Amino acid sequence: MLEAIILLGAPGAGKGTTADDLKEAVSGLTHVSTGNMLREALQAKSEVGLEAKQFMDKGELVPDDVVMKIVSDRLDAGPSDARYIFDGFPRTCEQARLLDAFLAEDDRGQVSHVFLLEVPTEVLVDRIAGRLICRDCGAVYHVTNIPPKVEGVCDECGGELYQRADDNRETVLNRLEVYNNQTASLIDYYAQKNVLRRVKALNREKTLDAIRDHVQAS
Ligand code: AMP
Repeated sequence: MLEAIILLGAPGAGKGTTADDLKEAVSGLTHVSTGNMLREALQAKSEVGLEAKQFMDKGELVPDDVVMKIVSDRLDAGPSDARYIFDGFPRTCEQARLLDAFLAEDDRGQVSHVFLLEVPTEVLVDRIAGRLICRDCGAVYHVTNIPPKVEGVCDECGGELYQRADDNRETVLNRLEVYNNQTASLIDYYAQKNVLRRVKALNREKTLDAIRDHVQAS
């Protein structure tokens, strides 16, 4: 059976970093970031990438069916007993319903945990404005909070670090608004299913501590 562990939270809440930390701490987890997959599609200039670009540039959401297609293709290509950590997916209640339907079909699996990473807005903006990403492996850094050992170079793989095109102040404010308007309703969706846990995500180690045991136990 597939297992889906979902990290919810505003842009900059630390979903990518927490997913990386969890993957290190608990063996057998696969990190799926729809943002990374869309950026890869964009770099490869694929049809999906070019369609997604117009939305991503403005900080808007890529249509649900496009995102669900890349996720279902990815899950179908993996083993049937994989444990996935989703970061940045689902982003709308419709995506959550599509994911549930996909997992229910042929009894593929289920959503086991949803962790809501809670961070005050002013911290989010600061984190995003200073965020750096590895072009090769997608590892996440921050100019002051998580600096790489060598400026501009990924500690993990030696790849080049860059700032995402949508990590600028104007787009960030739009992304936060999109989160409040479209993604925050997912909190109720998963709370009603009794799989939601709220985690104060101001500190990296404490965030991992709050999540790790739940993930290990399942
Ligand atoms: P992220 O890396 O998760 O911050 O995503 C960057 C951008 O990719 C978002 O602002 C959206 O434009 C798009 N995106 C990523 N994941 C999704 C998703 N699940 N649904 C819709 N758009 C997404």
